[in-house]
Amino acid sequence: MINKEAEIHVTTECPHNCVFCSVKKHPHPNPTINEIKKDIKLSKPFRKLILSGGEVLLRKDISEIIKFAKANQKYTLIETNLIFLNEKLLRKIIKVGLNELKISFHSHDKNSYEKITQSKNFEKLLKNMELLRKYRSKVKISTNTVITRYNYRSLYKTINFFEEKYPFIEEIRISYPRFYPIKGHKNYSKKHLVSLRKIKKAINKIGNNKKILFENIPLCIINDKRAENVNWDVWLIKQGKILTGLEGRYFPKKCSECKKREKCQGLHRYYSLYFNENFVKPFK
Ligand code: SF4
Repeated sequence: MINKEAEIHVTTECPHNCVFCSVKKHPHPNPTINEIKKDIKLSKPFRKLILSGGEVLLRKDISEIIKFAKANQKYTLIETNLIFLNEKLLRKIIKVGLNELKISFHSHDKNSYEKITQSKNFEKLLKNMELLRKYRSKVKISTNTVITRYNYRSLYKTINFFEEKYPFIEEIRISYPRFYPIKGHKNYSKKHLVSLRKIKKAINKIGNNKKILFENIPLCIINDKRAENVNWDVWLIKQGKILTGLEGRYFPKKCSECKKREKCQGLHRYYSLYFNENFVKPFK
C-alpha cells in the first residue's frame, strides 16, 4: 500500500474559470472511460483516489466511473464545485459507493467567490450545500479553499462561516495555487496571487484551535503545531503514468539547513518569478 492519495482528472470542462486554475489554460481532450478505468487500476495501491477535473459532475458517466473506482479502490472522493448537483444525481453517486465530496468553496463572501470563480454561481452553491445537509450522514463532506488575493484577508471569516453554518463539514482544506506563467493569459497575471509571506499572517489570524489541512504550503509558513497537518500526499495519474507530488517543486538554498526538509515539498517551481523567497525560515 502506498500511503498517498492518487488523483485522476476526468474532464477539463467546467462552468467556472477560476483565476488560479491551470486546467482550462492547458486544454487537452477529455479522457475516454476506458482510459480513466486504466488509470483507476493504477491507483489501486494508493490510500485514496481523488476524481477531479474540470468539473467532474459534468461527466454523464460519473456514476459508472465511481462504481468502477470503488470496485478497484477502497476510498473514492470527488472534487466538485457543486453547481450541477441535484438530488437524483447525489443519491445515485452515494448508491454506487462514493465516500467523500470535496467542495471547492473559495469564500463565504459572494463577491470574492464570484471574482475568484469568474461566475455568478454563489447562490447555487449555497442551495446545494443545503442538499448536502440532508445527506450528511451518507457521505463525508469536506471543503477546499484556494488562497488568492481576493480571499486571503478574510480566510479566518471563511473558516468561521464553515464551522457555524455547516457543522457537518468534516475536513477543511486551505491550498496555495499551482500557478504557471502562461504568457499573455490574464488569469496568470500576478494581480490574482498573493505572497506566502502575506499568507503566513492570514493563517495566523485563523487561530490554533481550528483543525485545518493545508496543501501546497511550505511547512515554515505554518506554526510548529500545524506543520503536522500539511498534505503533500497527492500524486497525479495521467494516461498510464504516475507523477509524484515532487514534480514541479524546488527548495531555496536556506532549506538545506532545515530539519523538516524531508517532510516539506518546498515551493512551486515558478514561485520566485512572482515573489521573493525571504520568508523561508528553516526549522532548527
Ligand atoms: S525552510 Fe524550506 S524545507 Fe524547511 S519548511 Fe521552509 S520551505 Fe520547507
